[in-house]
Amino acid sequence: MIRFFNTLSGKKEEFVPLIPGEVKLYTCGPTVYDYAHIGNFRAYVFEDLLKRFLLFMGFRVKHVMNITDIDDKTIRGANAQGVDLKTYTQKYIDAFSRDVDTLNIIRADVYPRATEHIPEMVAVIQLLIQKGYAYEKDGSYYFSIARFPDYGRLSKISLEELQPGQRVDVDEYEKENVHDFALWKAKKEGEPFWETEIGPGRPGWHIECSAMSSKYLGETFDIHCGGVDNIFPHHENEIAQSEAAFGKKFVNTWLHCHHLIRDGEKMSKSKGNTITIPEIRKVKDKPEALRFLLLSTHYRKTLNFTFEALDQAEIALKRINAFAGEMKYGNFPEGETEAVVKIVEEAEIKCRAGLSDDLNISKTMTAVFDLIKRCNILLCQKEIKSGDAGRLNGFLDGVNSVLGVISPTHITAWSDMKADRTVTPGITVEQLEKIMETGKARADLKGAIVGQASVSGDLQVLSKEQKEKIEMREKARAQKNFAESDRIRAELAAEGILLEDTKDGVRWKSVPVQKKPE
Ligand SMILES: [Zn+2]
Repeated sequence: MIRFFNTLSGKKEEFVPLIPGEVKLYTCGPTVYDYAHIGNFRAYVFEDLLKRFLLFMGFRVKHVMNITDIDDKTIRGANAQGVDLKTYTQKYIDAFSRDVDTLNIIRADVYPRATEHIPEMVAVIQLLIQKGYAYEKDGSYYFSIARFPDYGRLSKISLEELQPGQRVDVDEYEKENVHDFALWKAKKEGEPFWETEIGPGRPGWHIECSAMSSKYLGETFDIHCGGVDNIFPHHENEIAQSEAAFGKKFVNTWLHCHHLIRDGEKMSKSKGNTITIPEIRKVKDKPEALRFLLLSTHYRKTLNFTFEALDQAEIALKRINAFAGEMKYGNFPEGETEAVVKIVEEAEIKCRAGLSDDLNISKTMTAVFDLIKRCNILLCQKEIKSGDAGRLNGFLDGVNSVLGVISPTHITAWSDMKADRTVTPGITVEQLEKIMETGKARADLKGAIVGQASVSGDLQVLSKEQKEKIEMREKARAQKNFAESDRIRAELAAEGILLEDTKDGVRWKSVPVQKKPE
């Protein structure tokens, strides 16, 4: 059973789409008056996680995301630069598309632009006029919220102090300012306008989502998403417009993503603390780590962006990638291990249960890291067989179809790989040689231990304690105290250091280990 927290009811509810096997999803898109910042992209990545999860669960998903290319802000921006609206917004639409691809977000089926749907908006406004929900004043049209008793149900605002007939003309306003809102704004000096059946002018912001969602998804559809900022007034107004015009329920499930903050403050243009994806990439060019950071905090919790958090995300992701690489490129003996079958089964159930519980990503990641930890120990004990690796690859592919962040890297390289040029697909001999040179690849413990290198170049060197443990184990082995030597080997394995005894001595390599998620 899939459960989502529905903002409309204020609780978790079982999710059942209108048409079995099919989900109609509308997500409010960017207002293209400036470059989108990662606060905006947190919501888009959350929506992508939602969509990928639904696809993973076997639903067909029709996804529509609008592009607001006309509103107060875009007009102001274009006028300030002295260019026409289309030229002005196109630059930001292109940048938005690049960022969507950078973050590995699956593109929507349709990205309707407001300026290309003026007749559809006028038609909805005409319905509202006919049904008595809209009135005209000086060539502009307003929605009369006193006529719509359900107004405020989504945002839970109180309408007690509402004064009928008071109007707001701006597209965005605060809760203290609940008024009749503009559906259509009369032609004005310095603003683009359209000649229409309701007179010359241009649409308000909110009407576009009612018009375009009904055009592409129908008058009632399954899921509508946005950031919490959209709840009031935007989504409240969408509900009022659509339900008044079409006389039926607009949306069954509303999901809203919480804020991204930076240094304790909400990221927003007005605070001047925004950062864009290209700006982040100048500091750290790891888009997959950024995506992982954005999706690894539950969408209904505030996410604090720092570069340290991005580093942490990168480290966690490296652990997954290294394990995935080991499974993909490693050589294993034929066969299958009972334990792995069980580990994968358990992890699959937990991952599914986590995401089905209102996209509880923490539960899912705990299951993934737990699997990696347990399998690393089996790796160390040489218990992983080719059938297991195949099974684990399948599991990771499934996980990645939802997370979209895993790219297997074979980061561990035995010290003698330089001689053995056949190993590790994906790494060139040149790369390997460079690693070996820079690598301190040969650790210095009595000449017995050789080292480990990683493709990314950031070598992990054994800690003093780990070296001592290896020495102690060597002593135990020399004394034929195998219980003790096995105990130390398991202890090191839990720390991510795998040992292999060869005729030339013991070799080690570092593998990813689980870091306890909070
Ligand atoms: Zn919208």
